[in-house]
Amino acid sequence: MKTDDRCQICYKPATHFLFATFVCDSEECIQKAREQRGGPGGHKKQKLFDWRKSEK
Ligand SMILES: [Zn+2]
Repeated sequence: MKTDDRCQICYKPATHFLFATFVCDSEECIQKAREQRGGPGGHKKQKLFDWRKSEK
């Protein structure tokens, strides 16, 4: 991991690369990154639900 990789939400050093975005360990940042990846639209919550459902 490069040291100049920063969380796209809070700008702390990033520890993960998720949803085409660098994020830190914070659950909040990961969720925000996921929302941004989902883009605008009221269907994103349903998408998240489907995604969680398919995990199990
Ligand atoms: Zn963060």
